[in-house]
Amino acid sequence: MSINSVAIIGAGMAGVTCASRLVLEVPEVVVFEQNPKPGGRMTSIVFDEFQCDLGAQYFTATSDEFVAHMETWEDEWLVDRWHGWLVELENGQAMTRDDEVVRFVGRPGMDAIVEKLGELCSVRCGVAIQTMERSGKQWYLLDAEGHRHGPFDAVISAVPAPAARRLLAASPKLAIEAGSVEVQPNWIVVLGYSEPLNLGFDAANLVDSDITWMANNASKPGREGWDVWLLQVGNEWSAQNTEADPEAVVAHMLKAFDQATGRDNPAPDLVKAHLWQHSLVVNPLACGHLYHEKLQIGACGDWCQASRVEGAFQSGVSMAERLLAERES
Ligand SMILES: Cc1cc2nc3c(=O)[nH]c(=O)nc-3n(C[C@H](O)[C@H](O)[C@H](O)COP(=O)(O)OP(=O)(O)OC[C@H]3O[C@@H](n4cnc5c(N)ncnc54)[C@H](O)[C@@H]3O)c2cc1C
Repeated sequence: MSINSVAIIGAGMAGVTCASRLVLEVPEVVVFEQNPKPGGRMTSIVFDEFQCDLGAQYFTATSDEFVAHMETWEDEWLVDRWHGWLVELENGQAMTRDDEVVRFVGRPGMDAIVEKLGELCSVRCGVAIQTMERSGKQWYLLDAEGHRHGPFDAVISAVPAPAARRLLAASPKLAIEAGSVEVQPNWIVVLGYSEPLNLGFDAANLVDSDITWMANNASKPGREGWDVWLLQVGNEWSAQNTEADPEAVVAHMLKAFDQATGRDNPAPDLVKAHLWQHSLVVNPLACGHLYHEKLQIGACGDWCQASRVEGAFQSGVSMAERLLAERES
């Protein structure tokens, strides 16, 4: 089949993994990303004095291929093991969680791998694609500024499921599959302290709190500067408060933080609240990718495989392998 040009929408882990495979064999591969830089839900933000992983906190590697990549990325200093002290926290009582999990983090931020993979292909940042249009046997993409991109032989959506449902409208079957996937919202609150808080642990899963996870970014390898505590707000509270004022979210979570840690913590020197409208996938399809052979339109992303960084990677690989197989058929 004639596939010599491919457009991929979304420069998260799935999109850039897919693109970095395709560029080895397909003459033209272009990734469109709405944000100023690649990363997606693995993004890290940098403030004046500190940086913080705003999405994925760490990742695990279980499949042979991802484990092999991890070894390469560790050699390249893009990834490191995080040996943070993880506890289970309930009303100020911390219980050490003794697990055997090997936790990896990107360095200096979680987005390091995505940025590196993005360097292997052509990524056009700051372009939000709104529609995919089929004309004859080719595809054109329309962006939010009204610009038309193309033509492309094949188009791949690598965006979260709710956005994919809209982009895949040309293939009702694929759009319906994307629409069947539920993705939860999550508020995140970042607290920066110029003096260490000395909580006695580096990260915690919380019981009986509106916060489900907290971690000190400064405890991760390759991070420098202030103590930066990231609080991940629970799905239930987040879903009920998607319209909340960020200041009100911060005020509520500072109280929950004090209650969970069992002490009156000093006021943070910097705070930031962020709402991930599409955070964690509830019911991933576990099918690798979606593809319509005749239309040459497909989809990948964590929601196609598993709701983790590794799931997004596997989905990107699966999509690329399918397109390369289609080229040879
Ligand atoms: C708060 C939080 C904590 C998490 N914690 C963990 C964890 O600890 N461990 C773990 O393994 N996973 C974790 N995850 C999940 C993990 O981050 C995701 O599974 C993974 O990063 C998804 O990658 P993706 O490429 O499928 O999607 P995304 O990373 O969402 O990438 C999609 C990209 O598409 C872009 N895009 C969307 N629409 C358009 C458009 N119209 N035009 C152009 N570009 C568009 C987006 O800007 C984005 O860059 C967490 C996620 C969140 C939000």
